[in-house]
Amino acid sequence: MVGKIVQLEDYEKLIGGEAVERIRKKARPLQGLHLVNVNSTYYGGGVAELLSSLSLLMNSVGIKTGWGVIQGAPDFFSITKKMHNALQGEEINLSNRKREIYEEVIWENAVRNHLENHNMVIIHDPQPLPMIKHYKKNGPWIWRCHIDLTNPNKELWNYLVPTVEKYDAVIFSLKEYAQNIKTPQLFFMPAIDPFKIKTREMSEEEIKERLDHYGIPTDLPLVVQISRFDRWKDPQGVIEAFKLARKEVDCTLVLLGNVATDDPEGSDLFESLLDCREERIIILSHQDSALVNALQRRAAVVVQKSIREGFGLTVTEAMWKGTPVIGGNIGGIRYQIEDGVNGFLVSSVEETAGRIVRLIKDQKLREEMGRKAKETVRKKFLLNRYLEEYLDLFGAFETIYRLTALPKV
Ligand code: UDP
Repeated sequence: MVGKIVQLEDYEKLIGGEAVERIRKKARPLQGLHLVNVNSTYYGGGVAELLSSLSLLMNSVGIKTGWGVIQGAPDFFSITKKMHNALQGEEINLSNRKREIYEEVIWENAVRNHLENHNMVIIHDPQPLPMIKHYKKNGPWIWRCHIDLTNPNKELWNYLVPTVEKYDAVIFSLKEYAQNIKTPQLFFMPAIDPFKIKTREMSEEEIKERLDHYGIPTDLPLVVQISRFDRWKDPQGVIEAFKLARKEVDCTLVLLGNVATDDPEGSDLFESLLDCREERIIILSHQDSALVNALQRRAAVVVQKSIREGFGLTVTEAMWKGTPVIGGNIGGIRYQIEDGVNGFLVSSVEETAGRIVRLIKDQKLREEMGRKAKETVRKKFLLNRYLEEYLDLFGAFETIYRLTALPKV
Protein backbone atom coordinates (compact mmCIF):
# COMPACT_ATOMS: atom_id res chain seq x y z
CA MET A 1 0.00 0.00 0.00
CA VAL A 2 1.27 3.47 -0.82
CA GLY A 3 1.47 5.60 2.34
CA LYS A 4 0.30 9.17 2.51
CA ILE A 5 2.56 12.21 2.54
CA VAL A 6 3.48 13.19 6.08
CA GLN A 7 1.59 16.20 7.38
CA LEU A 8 2.49 18.48 10.27
CA GLU A 9 -0.50 17.06 12.18
CA ASP A 10 1.19 13.65 12.22
CA TYR A 11 3.70 15.13 14.66
CA GLU A 12 0.97 15.91 17.18
CA LYS A 13 1.31 12.58 18.98
CA LEU A 14 5.02 13.22 19.44
CA ILE A 15 5.18 16.93 20.23
CA GLY A 16 1.64 17.82 21.37
CA GLY A 17 -1.16 19.92 19.85
CA GLU A 18 0.12 23.23 21.18
CA ALA A 19 3.45 22.94 19.33
CA VAL A 20 1.65 21.97 16.11
CA GLU A 21 -0.65 24.99 16.42
CA ARG A 22 2.30 27.30 17.12
CA ILE A 23 4.01 26.11 13.92
CA ARG A 24 0.80 26.47 11.89
CA LYS A 25 0.45 30.03 13.16
CA LYS A 26 3.96 30.87 12.04
CA ALA A 27 3.27 29.39 8.60
CA ARG A 28 0.01 31.31 8.08
CA PRO A 29 1.48 34.68 6.99
CA LEU A 30 3.80 32.83 4.62
CA GLN A 31 1.13 31.10 2.55
CA GLY A 32 1.98 31.08 -1.10
CA LEU A 33 5.68 31.74 -0.60
CA HIS A 34 7.43 29.94 -3.44
CA LEU A 35 10.94 28.74 -2.70
CA VAL A 36 13.44 26.33 -4.15
CA ASN A 37 16.30 24.33 -2.66
CA VAL A 38 19.32 23.39 -4.75
CA ASN A 39 21.94 20.81 -3.82
CA SER A 40 24.25 18.42 -5.62
CA THR A 41 22.83 14.95 -5.04
CA TYR A 42 19.34 13.52 -4.89
CA TYR A 43 20.61 10.47 -3.04
CA GLY A 44 23.25 9.48 -0.49
CA GLY A 45 24.14 11.54 2.53
CA GLY A 46 22.36 13.69 5.02
CA VAL A 47 21.53 16.68 2.82
CA ALA A 48 19.44 14.64 0.39
CA GLU A 49 17.87 12.89 3.35
CA LEU A 50 16.89 16.20 4.93
CA LEU A 51 15.66 17.79 1.73
CA SER A 52 13.46 14.88 0.76
CA SER A 53 11.54 15.18 4.04
CA LEU A 54 11.69 18.90 4.76
CA SER A 55 10.53 19.95 1.28
CA LEU A 56 7.39 17.84 1.75
CA LEU A 57 6.73 19.09 5.27
CA MET A 58 7.05 22.70 4.09
CA ASN A 59 4.51 22.02 1.37
CA SER A 60 2.21 20.55 4.01
CA VAL A 61 2.13 23.94 5.78
CA GLY A 62 1.40 25.86 2.58
CA ILE A 63 4.88 26.91 1.47
CA LYS A 64 5.47 25.95 -2.13
CA THR A 65 8.85 24.31 -1.76
CA GLY A 66 10.80 22.76 -4.59
CA TRP A 67 14.07 20.87 -4.78
CA GLY A 68 16.50 20.89 -7.70
CA VAL A 69 19.78 19.05 -8.14
CA ILE A 70 22.69 20.35 -10.20
CA GLN A 71 24.30 18.17 -12.84
CA GLY A 72 27.99 17.80 -13.52
CA ALA A 73 30.49 15.42 -15.10
CA PRO A 74 32.82 13.38 -12.84
CA ASP A 75 35.66 15.93 -13.15
CA PHE A 76 33.37 18.57 -11.64
CA PHE A 77 32.41 16.33 -8.72
CA SER A 78 36.00 15.31 -8.19
CA ILE A 79 36.85 19.01 -7.74
CA THR A 80 33.89 19.69 -5.45
CA LYS A 81 34.77 16.66 -3.33
CA LYS A 82 38.29 18.06 -2.94
CA MET A 83 36.70 21.34 -1.91
CA HIS A 84 34.52 19.49 0.59
CA ASN A 85 37.60 17.80 2.04
CA ALA A 86 39.47 21.12 2.16
CA LEU A 87 36.60 22.82 3.97
CA GLN A 88 36.91 20.05 6.54
CA GLY A 89 40.60 20.91 6.97
CA GLU A 90 42.61 19.19 4.23
CA GLU A 91 45.08 20.77 1.81
CA ILE A 92 43.93 21.58 -1.72
CA ASN A 93 45.74 22.58 -4.89
CA LEU A 94 43.27 25.19 -6.07
CA SER A 95 44.53 25.56 -9.62
CA ASN A 96 42.99 27.87 -12.21
CA ARG A 97 41.82 24.81 -14.11
CA LYS A 98 39.84 23.61 -11.09
CA ARG A 99 38.28 27.04 -10.51
CA GLU A 100 37.36 27.29 -14.17
CA ILE A 101 35.61 23.90 -14.27
CA TYR A 102 33.81 24.63 -11.00
CA GLU A 103 32.56 28.05 -12.09
CA GLU A 104 31.68 26.98 -15.61
CA VAL A 105 29.59 23.95 -14.64
CA ILE A 106 27.65 26.07 -12.15
CA TRP A 107 27.09 28.75 -14.76
CA GLU A 108 25.68 26.09 -17.12
CA ASN A 109 23.39 24.88 -14.34
CA ALA A 110 22.26 28.45 -13.67
CA VAL A 111 21.32 28.88 -17.34
CA ARG A 112 19.11 25.82 -17.32
CA ASN A 113 17.49 26.20 -13.89
CA HIS A 114 15.55 29.51 -13.89
CA LEU A 115 15.73 30.13 -10.18
CA GLU A 116 14.51 33.68 -10.81
CA ASN A 117 10.99 32.24 -10.88
CA HIS A 118 11.02 31.88 -7.08
CA ASN A 119 10.78 34.40 -4.31
CA MET A 120 13.36 32.64 -2.14
CA VAL A 121 16.31 30.40 -2.97
CA ILE A 122 18.19 28.09 -0.59
CA ILE A 123 21.50 26.78 -1.90
CA HIS A 124 23.06 23.82 -0.09
CA ASP A 125 26.78 23.29 0.42
CA PRO A 126 29.68 24.55 -1.71
CA GLN A 127 28.92 22.69 -4.96
CA PRO A 128 26.14 25.03 -6.24
CA LEU A 129 27.32 28.08 -4.25
CA PRO A 130 28.20 30.28 -7.30
CA MET A 131 24.66 29.97 -8.73
CA ILE A 132 23.90 33.32 -7.08
CA LYS A 133 26.27 35.13 -9.43
CA HIS A 134 24.07 34.44 -12.42
CA TYR A 135 20.68 35.77 -11.28
CA LYS A 136 18.97 39.01 -10.54
CA LYS A 137 17.60 38.43 -7.06
CA ASN A 138 13.84 38.20 -6.68
CA GLY A 139 13.95 37.85 -2.88
CA PRO A 140 16.48 36.56 -0.39
CA TRP A 141 19.06 33.89 -1.14
CA ILE A 142 20.22 31.66 1.70
CA TRP A 143 23.36 29.53 1.75
CA ARG A 144 22.87 26.43 3.92
CA CYS A 145 26.25 24.86 4.57
CA HIS A 146 26.11 21.43 6.22
CA ILE A 147 29.85 20.83 6.45
CA ASP A 148 32.02 20.69 9.58
CA LEU A 149 33.75 24.08 9.27
CA THR A 150 35.81 23.87 12.44
CA ASN A 151 39.03 24.41 10.53
CA PRO A 152 38.48 25.22 6.84
CA ASN A 153 41.43 25.45 4.50
CA LYS A 154 42.20 29.20 4.36
CA GLU A 155 43.04 29.45 0.68
CA LEU A 156 39.78 27.83 -0.36
CA TRP A 157 37.68 29.71 2.16
CA ASN A 158 39.15 33.07 1.03
CA TYR A 159 38.28 32.16 -2.55
CA LEU A 160 34.68 31.36 -1.59
CA VAL A 161 34.02 34.31 0.75
CA PRO A 162 33.14 36.95 -1.90
CA THR A 163 30.47 34.56 -3.25
CA VAL A 164 29.21 33.65 0.24
CA GLU A 165 28.85 37.36 1.00
CA LYS A 166 26.43 37.82 -1.89
CA TYR A 167 23.89 35.82 0.12
CA ASP A 168 21.34 37.40 2.46
CA ALA A 169 21.92 34.81 5.18
CA VAL A 170 24.09 31.80 5.86
CA ILE A 171 22.95 28.84 7.93
CA PHE A 172 25.51 26.56 9.56
CA SER A 173 24.71 23.52 11.69
CA LEU A 174 26.61 24.68 14.80
CA LYS A 175 27.83 27.94 16.37
CA GLU A 176 31.39 26.59 16.22
CA TYR A 177 31.26 26.78 12.44
CA ALA A 178 30.72 30.59 12.45
CA GLN A 179 33.07 32.48 10.14
CA ASN A 180 34.38 35.99 9.88
CA ILE A 181 32.02 37.18 7.09
CA LYS A 182 29.71 40.13 6.56
CA THR A 183 26.63 38.00 5.93
CA PRO A 184 24.33 37.31 8.91
CA GLN A 185 24.86 33.78 10.21
CA LEU A 186 22.29 31.47 11.75
CA PHE A 187 22.72 28.05 13.29
CA PHE A 188 20.18 25.26 12.73
CA MET A 189 20.95 21.69 13.70
CA PRO A 190 19.47 19.12 11.33
CA ALA A 191 16.74 16.72 12.38
CA ILE A 192 14.99 13.51 11.31
CA ASP A 193 11.60 12.65 9.92
CA PRO A 194 10.25 9.95 12.25
CA PHE A 195 7.67 8.67 9.76
CA LYS A 196 9.73 7.42 6.85
CA ILE A 197 10.73 3.86 5.99
CA LYS A 198 14.13 4.47 7.57
CA THR A 199 12.77 5.64 10.91
CA ARG A 200 9.32 4.23 11.54
CA GLU A 201 8.53 1.34 13.88
CA MET A 202 9.32 -2.18 12.66
CA SER A 203 8.10 -5.45 14.10
CA GLU A 204 10.59 -8.14 15.16
CA GLU A 205 9.50 -10.21 12.12
CA GLU A 206 10.13 -7.32 9.74
CA ILE A 207 13.57 -6.72 11.24
CA LYS A 208 14.46 -10.39 11.02
CA GLU A 209 13.21 -10.62 7.46
CA ARG A 210 15.47 -7.74 6.32
CA LEU A 211 18.55 -9.08 8.11
CA ASP A 212 17.97 -12.63 6.85
CA HIS A 213 17.51 -11.28 3.35
CA TYR A 214 21.12 -10.02 3.38
CA GLY A 215 22.48 -13.00 5.29
CA ILE A 216 23.31 -10.97 8.40
CA PRO A 217 23.68 -13.36 11.36
CA THR A 218 21.96 -12.37 14.60
CA ASP A 219 23.32 -15.09 16.88
CA LEU A 220 25.85 -12.65 18.40
CA PRO A 221 25.37 -8.98 19.39
CA LEU A 222 25.65 -6.63 16.42
CA VAL A 223 28.04 -3.69 16.33
CA VAL A 224 26.94 -1.48 13.43
CA GLN A 225 28.19 1.59 11.61
CA ILE A 226 26.09 2.96 8.76
CA SER A 227 27.74 5.71 6.72
CA ARG A 228 28.62 6.87 3.27
CA PHE A 229 31.96 5.35 2.32
CA ASP A 230 34.00 8.42 3.18
CA ARG A 231 37.27 8.50 5.07
CA TRP A 232 35.94 11.20 7.43
CA LYS A 233 33.67 8.46 8.83
CA ASP A 234 36.77 6.39 9.75
CA PRO A 235 35.50 2.91 8.80
CA GLN A 236 39.04 1.58 9.21
CA GLY A 237 39.09 2.81 12.80
CA VAL A 238 35.78 1.06 13.43
CA ILE A 239 37.22 -2.25 12.19
CA GLU A 240 40.29 -1.83 14.41
CA ALA A 241 38.12 -1.03 17.43
CA PHE A 242 35.93 -4.06 16.71
CA LYS A 243 38.97 -6.33 16.49
CA LEU A 244 40.13 -5.14 19.91
CA ALA A 245 36.66 -5.45 21.43
CA ARG A 246 36.08 -8.99 20.23
CA LYS A 247 39.06 -10.16 22.28
CA GLU A 248 36.74 -9.64 25.26
CA VAL A 249 33.21 -10.13 23.91
CA ASP A 250 31.72 -12.16 21.10
CA CYS A 251 30.06 -9.95 18.51
CA THR A 252 29.54 -9.34 14.79
CA LEU A 253 30.46 -6.11 12.99
CA VAL A 254 28.29 -4.78 10.18
CA LEU A 255 29.48 -1.82 8.13
CA LEU A 256 26.73 -0.69 5.79
CA GLY A 257 27.50 2.15 3.44
CA ASN A 258 26.60 3.90 0.23
CA VAL A 259 28.16 6.29 -2.21
CA ALA A 260 26.54 9.64 -2.95
CA THR A 261 26.24 10.65 -6.60
CA ASP A 262 28.42 13.70 -5.94
CA ASP A 263 31.23 11.71 -4.31
CA PRO A 264 33.67 10.05 -6.73
CA GLU A 265 35.97 8.87 -3.89
CA GLY A 266 33.40 6.57 -2.27
CA SER A 267 33.65 3.50 -4.47
CA ASP A 268 37.44 3.25 -4.10
CA LEU A 269 37.11 3.36 -0.34
CA PHE A 270 34.43 0.66 -0.47
CA GLU A 271 36.65 -1.55 -2.65
CA SER A 272 39.61 -1.11 -0.30
CA LEU A 273 37.52 -2.08 2.72
CA LEU A 274 36.38 -5.33 1.13
CA ASP A 275 39.77 -6.90 1.97
CA CYS A 276 38.87 -6.58 5.66
CA ARG A 277 35.84 -8.87 5.35
CA GLU A 278 35.70 -11.94 7.57
CA GLU A 279 32.99 -14.25 8.81
CA ARG A 280 32.21 -11.76 11.59
CA ILE A 281 33.10 -8.57 9.73
CA ILE A 282 30.37 -7.88 7.23
CA ILE A 283 30.78 -5.01 4.79
CA LEU A 284 27.80 -4.17 2.64
CA SER A 285 26.60 -1.56 0.20
CA HIS A 286 22.86 -1.77 -0.50
CA GLN A 287 20.39 1.00 -1.16
CA ASP A 288 17.76 -0.16 1.28
CA SER A 289 16.24 2.18 3.87
CA ALA A 290 14.40 -0.67 5.60
CA LEU A 291 17.76 -2.41 6.10
CA VAL A 292 19.18 0.78 7.67
CA ASN A 293 16.18 0.86 9.99
CA ALA A 294 16.43 -2.85 10.86
CA LEU A 295 20.15 -2.65 11.60
CA GLN A 296 19.84 0.46 13.74
CA ARG A 297 17.06 -1.25 15.71
CA ARG A 298 18.68 -4.65 16.10
CA ALA A 299 22.22 -3.39 16.86
CA ALA A 300 23.43 -3.79 20.42
CA VAL A 301 25.62 -0.78 19.72
CA VAL A 302 25.75 1.70 16.86
CA VAL A 303 29.11 3.32 16.23
CA GLN A 304 29.70 6.59 14.39
CA LYS A 305 33.42 7.03 14.79
CA SER A 306 33.73 10.07 12.54
CA ILE A 307 36.75 12.37 12.49
CA ARG A 308 34.71 15.28 11.09
CA GLU A 309 30.92 15.42 11.14
CA GLY A 310 28.79 18.45 10.28
CA PHE A 311 25.95 16.97 12.30
CA GLY A 312 25.56 13.20 11.84
CA LEU A 313 22.01 12.11 11.07
CA THR A 314 23.01 8.47 11.43
CA VAL A 315 23.54 9.18 15.13
CA THR A 316 20.09 10.75 15.45
CA GLU A 317 18.44 7.89 13.56
CA ALA A 318 19.95 5.23 15.81
CA MET A 319 19.20 7.17 19.00
CA TRP A 320 15.58 7.52 17.90
CA LYS A 321 15.38 3.74 17.83
CA GLY A 322 16.53 3.48 21.43
CA THR A 323 19.96 2.15 20.47
CA PRO A 324 22.98 3.54 22.34
CA VAL A 325 25.52 5.22 20.06
CA ILE A 326 29.28 5.47 20.48
CA GLY A 327 30.21 8.59 18.52
CA GLY A 328 33.37 10.49 17.69
CA ASN A 329 33.79 13.44 20.05
CA ILE A 330 33.53 16.02 17.27
CA GLY A 331 31.15 18.34 15.41
CA GLY A 332 27.44 17.71 15.59
CA ILE A 333 27.81 14.37 17.37
CA ARG A 334 28.73 16.23 20.56
CA TYR A 335 25.35 17.99 20.53
CA GLN A 336 23.45 14.74 20.35
CA ILE A 337 25.34 12.43 22.68
CA GLU A 338 25.78 13.37 26.30
CA ASP A 339 28.78 11.26 27.25
CA GLY A 340 27.90 8.49 29.67
CA VAL A 341 24.22 9.50 29.77
CA ASN A 342 22.54 8.68 26.44
CA GLY A 343 25.60 7.20 24.70
CA PHE A 344 29.38 7.57 24.69
CA LEU A 345 31.74 10.07 23.06
CA VAL A 346 35.13 8.71 22.03
CA SER A 347 38.41 10.04 20.67
CA SER A 348 40.44 6.91 19.88
CA VAL A 349 40.24 3.34 18.63
CA GLU A 350 41.03 2.01 22.13
CA GLU A 351 38.33 4.10 23.75
CA THR A 352 35.82 2.96 21.13
CA ALA A 353 36.73 -0.68 21.80
CA GLY A 354 36.36 -0.18 25.56
CA ARG A 355 32.90 1.34 25.15
CA ILE A 356 31.79 -1.45 22.80
CA VAL A 357 32.82 -4.04 25.39
CA ARG A 358 31.14 -2.18 28.23
CA LEU A 359 27.84 -1.81 26.38
CA ILE A 360 27.75 -5.36 25.10
CA LYS A 361 28.35 -6.71 28.59
CA ASP A 362 25.70 -4.57 30.23
CA GLN A 363 22.18 -4.94 28.88
CA LYS A 364 20.70 -2.71 31.57
CA LEU A 365 23.04 0.13 30.63
CA ARG A 366 22.13 -0.30 26.96
CA GLU A 367 18.44 -0.08 27.73
CA GLU A 368 18.82 2.92 30.00
CA MET A 369 21.02 4.85 27.55
CA GLY A 370 18.75 3.87 24.65
CA ARG A 371 15.68 5.21 26.47
CA LYS A 372 17.42 8.52 27.15
CA ALA A 373 18.72 8.67 23.59
CA LYS A 374 15.21 8.36 22.19
CA GLU A 375 13.90 11.07 24.49
CA THR A 376 16.76 13.40 23.46
CA VAL A 377 15.72 13.01 19.83
CA ARG A 378 12.01 13.49 20.57
CA LYS A 379 12.73 16.75 22.37
CA LYS A 380 15.42 18.22 20.14
CA PHE A 381 15.99 16.51 16.83
CA LEU A 382 12.68 15.89 15.08
CA LEU A 383 11.89 17.74 11.89
CA ASN A 384 9.18 19.94 13.44
CA ARG A 385 11.92 21.89 15.25
CA TYR A 386 13.92 22.37 12.06
CA LEU A 387 10.80 23.48 10.17
CA GLU A 388 10.00 25.99 12.89
CA GLU A 389 13.48 27.52 12.73
CA TYR A 390 13.08 27.99 8.98
CA LEU A 391 9.62 29.52 9.45
CA ASP A 392 11.07 32.03 11.93
CA LEU A 393 13.71 32.98 9.39
CA PHE A 394 11.20 33.25 6.54
CA GLY A 395 8.96 35.36 8.80
CA ALA A 396 11.85 37.75 9.45
CA PHE A 397 12.51 38.03 5.72
CA GLU A 398 8.80 38.48 5.02
CA THR A 399 8.69 41.63 7.12
CA ILE A 400 11.63 43.07 5.18
CA TYR A 401 10.84 41.91 1.66
CA ARG A 402 7.04 41.33 1.65
CA LEU A 403 7.77 38.12 -0.22
CA THR A 404 4.24 36.85 -0.28
CA ALA A 405 3.16 40.13 -1.91
CA LEU A 406 5.44 39.48 -4.87
CA PRO A 407 3.78 38.08 -7.98
CA LYS A 408 3.24 34.35 -7.43
CA VAL A 409 4.57 31.95 -10.01
N1 UDP B 1 22.63 6.30 4.69
C1 UDP B 1 21.90 5.30 4.04
N2 UDP B 1 22.52 4.16 3.62
C2 UDP B 1 23.82 3.97 3.82
C3 UDP B 1 24.59 4.95 4.49
C4 UDP B 1 23.96 6.11 4.91
O1 UDP B 1 20.70 5.46 3.83
O2 UDP B 1 24.33 2.92 3.42
C5 UDP B 1 21.94 7.51 5.15
C6 UDP B 1 21.85 7.56 6.65
O3 UDP B 1 20.78 6.76 7.10
C7 UDP B 1 21.64 9.07 6.88
C8 UDP B 1 22.45 9.69 5.76
O4 UDP B 1 22.63 8.68 4.77
O5 UDP B 1 20.28 9.40 6.74
C9 UDP B 1 23.80 10.17 6.23
O6 UDP B 1 23.68 11.38 6.88
P1 UDP B 1 24.76 11.92 7.89
O7 UDP B 1 24.32 13.26 8.35
O8 UDP B 1 24.99 10.92 8.97
O9 UDP B 1 26.13 11.99 7.08
P2 UDP B 1 26.56 12.60 5.65
O10 UDP B 1 26.51 11.44 4.71
O11 UDP B 1 25.61 13.68 5.29
O12 UDP B 1 27.95 13.06 5.85
